[in-house]
Amino acid sequence: MESATATTIYEQIGVKPVINARGFNTVVGGNTPTPRMKAAMEQVERYYVDMNELLERTGEIAARLMGAEAAYITPGCAAALALGTAACIAGDDLDKISRLPDTTGLKNETVIQKGHVYQYDRAACIVGTRLIEVGDANGTTAEQLDAALGPRTANVLFAAHLDRVPGTLPLERVLEIAHGKGVPVLVDAAAQVFPLERFTGFARSGADLVAYSTKYFGGPNSAGLLVGRKELVRAAAMQGFIGFETVSQRKAFGRPFKMDRQEIVCALVAIQEWLEMDHDRRLAEVERRIAHITRALEGLPGVATELLRRAGASPRVLRVSVDPGAAHRSAGEVFDELRNGSPSIWVNREPDALLVNPEPLKPNEVDVVASRLRALLA
Ligand SMILES: *Cc1c(COP(=O)(O)O)cnc(C)c1O
Repeated sequence: MESATATTIYEQIGVKPVINARGFNTVVGGNTPTPRMKAAMEQVERYYVDMNELLERTGEIAARLMGAEAAYITPGCAAALALGTAACIAGDDLDKISRLPDTTGLKNETVIQKGHVYQYDRAACIVGTRLIEVGDANGTTAEQLDAALGPRTANVLFAAHLDRVPGTLPLERVLEIAHGKGVPVLVDAAAQVFPLERFTGFARSGADLVAYSTKYFGGPNSAGLLVGRKELVRAAAMQGFIGFETVSQRKAFGRPFKMDRQEIVCALVAIQEWLEMDHDRRLAEVERRIAHITRALEGLPGVATELLRRAGASPRVLRVSVDPGAAHRSAGEVFDELRNGSPSIWVNREPDALLVNPEPLKPNEVDVVASRLRALLA
C-alpha cells in the first residue's frame, strides 16, 4: 500500500523510484525514518516550540549518549564541519562572528594531511578558511604537521575514514601535536558509525570537535551532529541558524544551516535507536540477504562473489567481480543496465566489480535485485 502511494507521487512528479542496493548515500535519498522516528516527528508537528531550547536540550541528551562534553544537532555532517570550523576561528567573540566568512586578520587556515584530502574538505572552508595540505603522496610526518601549525591556524581537519592511509599520522599523534600548539582538531567521523565503540570512540577520543552524519545511522538524510568541547560546541551553536536571533543579536552567516524541529528530534531518536539496536541481528539479516543474492549468482561463468566485512556505514557488502572475457559483459555495463532498467536498481562499483549493499532494501526487493543480477550476468 505504502509503496504504491509513493510510486504514484513520484510518477506525478515525473521521476523514477529507485531500488537502493547501494547504501545510505545522499544521492539516492540517504536513509528512511523508522516508525519510532515517524511517530516522534508527528508529535513534534502538533506544537511549535522554542527552537533554541529544543537545540539546547537535544544537544545535552545527545552529548550524554555519545559520552561527549557537549553536542549540537546540525543539518548534516558537512554543516557540522563548517560550523565547527567557524567556532575554531571565532570562538564566542561576537565581533569576529559577525565578520565571517571574511577572515581578514583572523585565523584563516585549516590544516589537513595530504593523505586525508577528500571530497568534503571544502565544507569546512566555506566559513572563510583556506585548506593547507601538509605532506606529500608518501604521507605526512610529525615534523611537517608541527611546522604547518602557526598563529594563522584555525584548526586541523582529520578525516576519520582515511585514518589507515599509509604514511598518515594517527589521530592520537595529531591530537598530541596540535594540542601542543593550542590548535583544535576537528574530526570528520561521518561514516564511522559501526562498530559502536568506534562510533562513540571518536567523541571520547580527546578530539576538540567531532562531526557525524545521521544519514549513516538510520536518521534523516538532512541531519548531523557536532560533539566536543563545551565552549567550542557553544561557539558553533552561536553561529547556527538562529544563533544571531537568540544569543548575539548581531549578524552571523548561519541561516543557510537551518533545520526543522522534526529533523532535530528525528536526529536525536536516531542516535538513541542506533545505540540501543541489536547490531548482531541487523548484520545477520544483511548477511542473509547477501547469501540469497550469492546463491542466485552461483555457477555463472566469469562471475565471482565475495562477502566483504568492514567497519563503517556499509559493514557487509557483496562484491560481484565480473571478468568481461568469460562473462558476456563488463561490470560497468551491468551497472548501467541495472540503473537504466525498470525498476531502476542502484549499486556501487569498482573497476571490475559491482558492490551490492542490500541493507537499505525492503524485504521484497532482495529477490528483485538477485533475479535482475542473474538475468544480466547469465
Ligand atoms: C556523507 C559524508 C559527509 C557529509 O555528510 P552530510 O550529512 O551529508 O552533510 C561528510 N563526510 C563524509 C566522510 C561523508 O561520507
